[in-house]
Amino acid sequence: MNHLKVIIIGAGIGGLTAGIALKQAGYEVEIYDRVATLRPVGAGISLWSNGVKVLNRLGLGAEIAAIGGEMNAMTYRSKTGELLNQIDLMPLIDRVGQRPYPVARRDLQTMLVAAFPGEVHLDHKCIDFEEYETGVTAIFENGHRTSGDLIIAADGIRSQFRKQILDEPVEPKYAGYINWNGLVPADEQLAPKNTWSIYVGEHKRASLMPVGDSRCYFFLDVPLPPDNCATPDSYRAELKEHFRGWDEPVQQLIDRLNPAETARIAIHDMGPIDRYVKGRVALLGDAAHGTCPDLGQGGCQALEDAWVLSNYLIATNISVPDALKRYESERKERANAVVAKARQRAEQIHGRDPDVTQAWYQQLKNEPPEDVTSAIAKTILGGPLR
Ligand code: FAD
Repeated sequence: MNHLKVIIIGAGIGGLTAGIALKQAGYEVEIYDRVATLRPVGAGISLWSNGVKVLNRLGLGAEIAAIGGEMNAMTYRSKTGELLNQIDLMPLIDRVGQRPYPVARRDLQTMLVAAFPGEVHLDHKCIDFEEYETGVTAIFENGHRTSGDLIIAADGIRSQFRKQILDEPVEPKYAGYINWNGLVPADEQLAPKNTWSIYVGEHKRASLMPVGDSRCYFFLDVPLPPDNCATPDSYRAELKEHFRGWDEPVQQLIDRLNPAETARIAIHDMGPIDRYVKGRVALLGDAAHGTCPDLGQGGCQALEDAWVLSNYLIATNISVPDALKRYESERKERANAVVAKARQRAEQIHGRDPDVTQAWYQQLKNEPPEDVTSAIAKTILGGPLR
């Protein structure tokens, strides 16, 4: 379709990527975010090859490579440091045709904002929309109104538009664990170079992965009630207690992290839901499929959404609602399956059924590395860009 005006609510990974893709298609695009300063939640993110391929197709291959860490292997160790499994990622990269890039979120956001050729309108909280026969109007808390051919609601896991699309509220569900994450300078004492280093035990997990600029993105997961009232000055003591007796690199990590720049997040997911679209309004990214981080796929699914949605708008010519329906029908099965798989993985890792987690620890010891990379490849190759 020619000459569309697209209104995007939310300047996260999903909204910005959709904005870039739709601008490249020649459409008029306005992006709005409620915050006064864009600040990503969390420190790092691993973009697996399916997400990177979307960025490649948008001409951002060199930019993502420049900020990404070189991750050539994964190691799993027990909490005391016994090597459980060592997985070479090069066969995976050969198989799927693109390496994954762990990145600092701030770098990714800066890259996406720079790639969007327009202004991101900050301090604009969208509170409602009105649809009419030939278009739709977004209404903002500050009194601003703007009309276009469609709205993309990329407003995150707590989307306020989801209820209107579904005609009922669907709330995020707690995944059973708290995740601390941040960045530390890379150091061989913490983790071997170019390796994603993971420690598991007691239903907890400690992880370090390389990102650009000689830093490591770390996260530490602990199953706990979902309260979120701890403050940064207690993080180190909390973590020392939860990871008491764990291997020396984990102790070093807790000693070195900067609590003031460490995020502490109660992990939630949302869905699967049955509808992503109503009329001229489409949910995109976490608004449609909030995903546990345990597969590293939530952001990648938002990238895939952006690619698929922009392609249906460009390639089909019946009507905007028709293109959105095609987007929904292609994305629903894929993204909902990833939500379910990530939830299953979160439960396996974090001891929802302790027997299942014990069996997983055993499996890690015995599993051929090719089985691990095959499972990752299957998820990657299920996306729209093979
Ligand atoms: P968001 O990033 O949540 O952006 C939504 C935006 O909408 C925000 O900027 C918000 O301010 C704005 N907004 C909300 N309401 C309004 C409103 N009413 N009006 C205007 N603006 C509004 N994914 C991966 O692919 N790999 C990983 O390794 C990975 N690790 C993760 C680790 C953690 C700890 C977590 C929590 C998630 C992880 N994810 C990962 C998932 C990934 O972060 C999300 O899937 C992704 O950020 C979703 O992007 P989004 O654009 O849909 O939503």
